[in-house]
Amino acid sequence: MSEPYYDVIRPHGGTLVDRVLRGEMQEAVRERAEQMVKVPLDQMGLSDLELIATGALSPLTGFMCKANYGRCVEEMRLTSGVVWSIPVTLAVESDLAGRIQEGQEVALCEGERVLAVMEVAEKYPYGQEVKEREAREVYRTTEEAHPGVARLYGRGATLLGGDVWLVDWPSAVKTEFPELRHTPAQTRRMFARRGWRSAVGFQTRNPIHRAHEYIQKTALEIVDGLFLHPLVGETKKDDIPADVRIASYQAILRDYYPAERVLLGVFPAAMRYAGPREAIFHAIARKNYGCTHFIVGRDHAGVGTYYGTYDAQNIFDQFSADEIGITPFKFEHAFYCKKCGTIVSAKTCPHGKDDWVFLSGTQVREMLARGELLPEEFTRPQVARVLLEGVQRQKEA
Ligand SMILES: [Zn+2]
Repeated sequence: MSEPYYDVIRPHGGTLVDRVLRGEMQEAVRERAEQMVKVPLDQMGLSDLELIATGALSPLTGFMCKANYGRCVEEMRLTSGVVWSIPVTLAVESDLAGRIQEGQEVALCEGERVLAVMEVAEKYPYGQEVKEREAREVYRTTEEAHPGVARLYGRGATLLGGDVWLVDWPSAVKTEFPELRHTPAQTRRMFARRGWRSAVGFQTRNPIHRAHEYIQKTALEIVDGLFLHPLVGETKKDDIPADVRIASYQAILRDYYPAERVLLGVFPAAMRYAGPREAIFHAIARKNYGCTHFIVGRDHAGVGTYYGTYDAQNIFDQFSADEIGITPFKFEHAFYCKKCGTIVSAKTCPHGKDDWVFLSGTQVREMLARGELLPEEFTRPQVARVLLEGVQRQKEA
């Protein structure tokens, strides 16, 4: 019997990119790469390489050259006109850049280990002025207090652009949730095998509290499947660690979700905290994984007060539905209402703040740090226990 083919939604730009070398080719290129100039990748670089190689960032086949970078920053498009909201670039320090010429092949490395070969099509300056323009356009602020901007300013002063070919996987692929690290080609097959003709993607870097469960299940009333796709790349220090979050997802899925309607995978991307621009980026990546719909909450991928409440939802309206190709489900904040006796939002409940159970992320972290269980109106007890144990273990470590 042939494998069911998932033709429900085309990858962004039309073709699912695959930049992973296999077999003899892989061995030959890896051997050749040992002689090349080695370019060490940071955490974000490792994430981006994995995403590019597996096609999660289709149609990108490498790190951006100058024209794509410029148009992405200014207009949220590639030179082909395809929508692209977040620069995916490779920055290097000046002394290393001095040893690299355009047209040269370099080895992209994790430590000393070669992961990929890149043909450097372009080498171009990434000075403070360029970075500030990127900060202003992409992050909507030039303040270093913004974690994405702080990382941007700390990057090397030269960008290398060019196509990549992967010859070995970053170590995280083998050590961090290998059984959940499905590639877009794999998830497309998994959706098809489950018979789904539509799937909604859910991005998160937080535990799933009852409000998120309500939003996911509301979406699941409309589409065939839910692809729960937590981000496990680099995040802020004060976000709850990925292993604790994954354990909490597994607990809630086991007890409260129909197994054949949900797929849990991990998204290896690093957080940029670029709010609206990152919401587009997150949606397009999930389209590549095969999702037809994507949940966009209020202040999606935001941090602090840098973005307006609805900016991450409204930005989708700047493009035609065809250009984005995945349908955003725009949700309000949800919470438990004591009078309604269920989870509601301001859209569906006539009562007021006094009846609503709200806990901010900071309050949640403080309660867990004090060793308190989160209230049942807020979090399923199974999840509350996993979080409490995880945070207590972390405190002892
Ligand atoms: Zn109510």
